[in-house]
Amino acid sequence: MKSEECTTSEKTAYEKVSLYLVATPIGNLEDITYRAVDVLRNVDMIACEDTRNTVILLNRYEIKNRLISFHEYSDRDKLEKLIAFMKEGNTLALVSDAGTPGISDPGYPLVKACLEEGLKVSSVPGPCAAVAALPMSGIDTRRFVFEGFIPRDKTRASVLKRICGRTDTQVIYESPHHLLETLTELSAVIPERKIAVIRELTKIHEESLLTTVLKARDHFLTVKPRGEFVLVLEGAEEKDDAPDEEAALLWLKKAMDEGITGKDAVRELQERFFLSKNAAKALVLKLKEEKGE
Ligand code: SAM
Repeated sequence: MKSEECTTSEKTAYEKVSLYLVATPIGNLEDITYRAVDVLRNVDMIACEDTRNTVILLNRYEIKNRLISFHEYSDRDKLEKLIAFMKEGNTLALVSDAGTPGISDPGYPLVKACLEEGLKVSSVPGPCAAVAALPMSGIDTRRFVFEGFIPRDKTRASVLKRICGRTDTQVIYESPHHLLETLTELSAVIPERKIAVIRELTKIHEESLLTTVLKARDHFLTVKPRGEFVLVLEGAEEKDDAPDEEAALLWLKKAMDEGITGKDAVRELQERFFLSKNAAKALVLKLKEEKGE
């Protein structure tokens, strides 16, 4: 970055950064931060997925800068050239077609290579479809897992199984072509689970449908899915993992009839039934009293 063009805060806090991960709009071109524009103007080069997409954004903000394509299929040579460019003291901004680079988008290999080479990486935060969808979904936001795209290879069945069993809210990316298939697969296992199907975030046709998995499937049987989708799926009900005192009591009665010592009983209760030491002692005492010992 040309230092004379930096803002004061950037001079102090971001001077040594080599790679900026710059989030860009996910639909509405107004969704970009002042800092993102500043960084895109002032870095020595911008690496982007598709230059035709990024040019639209750059034109909108009158940003003139060098663009180089860097995408999922870029080879190792390309990555090494970018690393060499930064090692010469140049700064690079990485953007994806939309949203936050590295989130279901290229970024990770370049970030990893930078860190291995001791080059500083920094985020210029902004839009991300998952983060935009979750808080407006109406589904519990306290704990969530970002699942991204559900793979379409041989691991799909086990990933779907994991998704159905997780107790945290999950955020899933889906294309319009595969939405119905995914909802059908989920509805076979968790038809009554709450789901928000959110499409076209920040765009004119933005919509959110909060319903059950089965009803969402039925909806898209008749309405053709169009646009980009995020699914926010409610977590499975938390299982009651509290220690099973009833089972512990039954076991203890039998063990005491067979002559187990109090000390051993306490240890066994802790190990077998995950009781605390105090709870185990109290149970042993209770039974001893009942037996008149
Ligand atoms: N890096 C992006 C981000 O930060 O969200 C995600 C890129 S990923 C290749 C594209 C997927 O993100 C889409 O298939 C869709 O699931 C989701 N997505 C992106 N923009 C969206 C939008 N405006 N509305 C709904 N979903 C969107």
